[in-house]
Amino acid sequence: MFQGRYGHDRLNRTLFIAALALSVLSLLFSLLGVPVVSTAASVLSWVLLLAGVLRMFSRNFYARQQELTRYMRIENDVVLWWRRNFKSTDGGFRSRANNVRSFSRERRRFKYLVCPHCAQKLRVPRGKGKLRVTCTKCGYKFEAKS
Ligand SMILES: [Zn+2]
Repeated sequence: MFQGRYGHDRLNRTLFIAALALSVLSLLFSLLGVPVVSTAASVLSWVLLLAGVLRMFSRNFYARQQELTRYMRIENDVVLWWRRNFKSTDGGFRSRANNVRSFSRERRRFKYLVCPHCAQKLRVPRGKGKLRVTCTKCGYKFEAKS
């Protein structure tokens, strides 16, 4: 049946997954009583499904491979964007949110100064009045309000 036909690839997989997701969305919106969105999702789902099936049975290997190359470029961009924005090296969105939270807590308790001599960043506790600060990097001493 698949002799001489293009068959399955990663773009088709994405098309079928998207079609499935859209048909679930369509059902959801019809249950929510929003028939316009439901119909639109259903139509789009069928379009994607049809596109996937037509690609599988296509004899034009060259055109299908061009599509796949273009698609993979987009998918890589999306994956990179996702990693940059939602995945930190220590794992997951939640720990990233925790990092932001603990950072802002730290900002409330400490004041950040810059050494006037070597521009080293220094942290001093807040609310201690005038402090005599010694730079940890170059040993320069200066006074700062905390
Ligand atoms: Zn310094």
